[in-house]
Amino acid sequence: MAGADIHHRTEDFRALYSGVLEGLKYFMGTTNDVMVFTSSGTGAMESAISNLFSAGDKALVVCAGKFGERWTEMTRAFGLQVQVLEAPYGDAVTPERVAEALQTDPGIRGVFVQATESSTGVSHDIEAMARAVKGTDALLIVDAITGLGTSHLDIDGWGLDVVIGGSQKAAMIPPGLAFLSLSPKAWERAEPRRSGYFYFDLLKHKKGGEKGESPWTPATSLLLGLAETLRYIRELGRENLIENAQLLAKATREAAVALDLELFAKGIPAAAVTSIRAPNGVSSNDIVKQFKTRFGSIIANGQGSMKGEIFRIAHLGYFDFADLFGVIAELEIILHSLGQKVEFGQGVRRVQQVYVEAAGSQGS
Ligand SMILES: *Cc1c(COP(=O)(O)O)cnc(C)c1O
Repeated sequence: MAGADIHHRTEDFRALYSGVLEGLKYFMGTTNDVMVFTSSGTGAMESAISNLFSAGDKALVVCAGKFGERWTEMTRAFGLQVQVLEAPYGDAVTPERVAEALQTDPGIRGVFVQATESSTGVSHDIEAMARAVKGTDALLIVDAITGLGTSHLDIDGWGLDVVIGGSQKAAMIPPGLAFLSLSPKAWERAEPRRSGYFYFDLLKHKKGGEKGESPWTPATSLLLGLAETLRYIRELGRENLIENAQLLAKATREAAVALDLELFAKGIPAAAVTSIRAPNGVSSNDIVKQFKTRFGSIIANGQGSMKGEIFRIAHLGYFDFADLFGVIAELEIILHSLGQKVEFGQGVRRVQQVYVEAAGSQGS
């Protein structure tokens, strides 16, 4: 990334940009067009609304947490007529509810959902939701910012119309790039051209991308970084990146249970992040703070009304068992110092067991 002094209208840059677009298709597992924006993930979320919908269009928002609430706010900000299917924090919205809403109102033009609701650590059943959307006039728009690289999303096979990612999650570089894929069905809706967008013009980005160019000055340093992590993902294999996150998630959950902690997610837990309830009488503020002050480890608090109630341990991208052994050992010490009864090593032992079971006899 320190090689950032690369001009964006040169052959060097065109080779870099084309390689990144190809690498993103591999990472996402799709043959659909992929576009990149210099923005955080929300920019790509906004582009899906502004380029594919008009004010007054009916939309269905699947909302199971803070990021679902972002879909609700954004679709409303663009004047869409929004119906929200809500689930309490920690729960998921079932695909049956989506199917029912689509049957009741065939005028719905789009279904907005999170693959992984990172605020609660819950996953949605995207495959079943895609089946419900298929054959309707609606587009399925998936915020997969933490779903990509942590779960098996078959974009082409399931027919996911828009899938959105961000650079700072399993793509393993700092924030500042967003990307998304568009299905042919979604492209049909990008025409006729609407008003209400300019920077996030999907068609301009598609046409630019075909020539290896970004319509505006892109974040070249981030693209250089992304090219490297995408090379690493290719070397590792996208399936292995996903399975790594899934195995670490399983080990984290089992360690939490071994420590008598309650998992916050009901239904399918996310592989990107595990959310855990603070024990009775303990604030997760103190747990998060001690991770930082005692060990220099960063874990996340709950957001909104979940702040103080839950804490979240991420395990996606560059994260491995060596990290998890440390994090769980730290957690045991922190719980002990907060007056909880802890048998040291109980959580760590469970992580070791999950590792050994998965590594098998080869120990690889
Ligand atoms: C991290 C995250 C985002 C982030 O959006 P930004 O614009 O990059 O802040 C959006 N959705 C989900 C599900 C996320 O996990």
